[in-house]
Amino acid sequence: MKVLIVGSGGREHAIAWKVAQSPKIDKIYCAPGNAGIEEYAECVNIGAMEFDKLVAFAKEKEIDLTVIGMDDPLVGGVVDAFEAEGLRVFGPRKNAAILEGSKAFSKDLMKKYNIPTAAYENFTDPQEALAYLETAKFPIVLKADGLALGKGVLICNTLEEAKDGVKEIMEDKKFGSAGNTMVIEEFMTGREVSVLTYVDGKTIKPMTSAQDHKRAKDGDQGLNTGGMGTFSPSPFYTEEVDAFCKAHIYQATVDAMAAEGREFKGIIFFGLMLTADGPKVLEYNARFGDPEAQVVLPRMKTDIVDVFEACIDGTLDQIDLEFEDNAAVCVVLASDGYPVSYQKGFPIKGLDAFKEKEGYYVFHAGTAKKDGQIVTNGGRVLGVVAKGDDLKQARANAYKAIDLVEFDNKYYRHDIGKAIDEA
Ligand code: ATP
Repeated sequence: MKVLIVGSGGREHAIAWKVAQSPKIDKIYCAPGNAGIEEYAECVNIGAMEFDKLVAFAKEKEIDLTVIGMDDPLVGGVVDAFEAEGLRVFGPRKNAAILEGSKAFSKDLMKKYNIPTAAYENFTDPQEALAYLETAKFPIVLKADGLALGKGVLICNTLEEAKDGVKEIMEDKKFGSAGNTMVIEEFMTGREVSVLTYVDGKTIKPMTSAQDHKRAKDGDQGLNTGGMGTFSPSPFYTEEVDAFCKAHIYQATVDAMAAEGREFKGIIFFGLMLTADGPKVLEYNARFGDPEAQVVLPRMKTDIVDVFEACIDGTLDQIDLEFEDNAAVCVVLASDGYPVSYQKGFPIKGLDAFKEKEGYYVFHAGTAKKDGQIVTNGGRVLGVVAKGDDLKQARANAYKAIDLVEFDNKYYRHDIGKAIDEA
């Protein structure tokens, strides 16, 4: 089989690595890919939003299966573009990717189908949003409706902050048209857990749980980032929580989408908050998380190509989805200054130390090849992943492994997985 993976981050590197384990695979391509993905795939210089070029490439190379890693092309309808040409592609169509693409849509869906989530109101008129805030309880959460690179959520402690937020999102259009509609949501407290699931339109199979660390600095300080590290499984995702989510959230979401005529095939990523009133949905994503994929996929035993095909064919019920009974931790090595400003182009040393090292992985995010040498080329540079028999061992292994890699301005958080100690 020939597979094309669309994307260029650490998530796509983890997907490429996992796809490469399948005995069915003869050749992998990645568009546009990165310097690490080149180890498993031929990288082609086509951007993830260049749908016509991607489709033409898939036809020319007779690609059997295309896997979309990123949210923007999914929300933009890349799956529809492939299907229109009779090509097999893993991911939700545009009318289903709206589950991630519009927070107002996903909140209305949850309300209509009684899926537990924070109380909210949607607004298209900034004056109405401001009037609503006058009587609201604080803190309160403002969310730009559309995709905003994970930055469109503001937690406001005071009315003044919230008023500024409405101005930023709806009037100044800091996130462009993503802010035409805004969700104002009740502030919840609790632990956050991510559960990624495979979905075939009817059947949903959850993967093992994970937890990420969004803030740039130790102790959850500093700015929000794409994610500074993850661990899997989450010790807070107990059997009781799992049973609740299976009874009230996972299947209910898939059935709700089907009932709305928006059959969902692909990945649904459930961002959950474990509140005192039980688990509630914080957000949906329509693709693997980054860096959640980097800790979940190395623990997955089942052939991922079989799972992708079953999702497309509607036969996921026949798949026995299995994960290893161990743990994994990912520590992101970033460029100092990320997520604001940082330098690029520094040579990276020590990557070969991970080759053939059982249970250790280095997934590339922002890297490039320059004169035959791999150099830093982004804010998040690498994800160093280690497995262990349990979370504590995996964390110790991951923190030992980051010393194997060196580059100028290397920055990382020292407390990834610290929550494990509180379990
Ligand atoms: P991303 O795409 O990066 O995952 P996003 O922009 O889609 O993020 P959300 O996941 O909805 O945004 O929110 C980002 C973060 O804000 C959450 O992980 C959570 O920490 C916090 N948050 C969101 N909604 C609430 C809420 N109702 N109460 C408390 N915190 C919240």
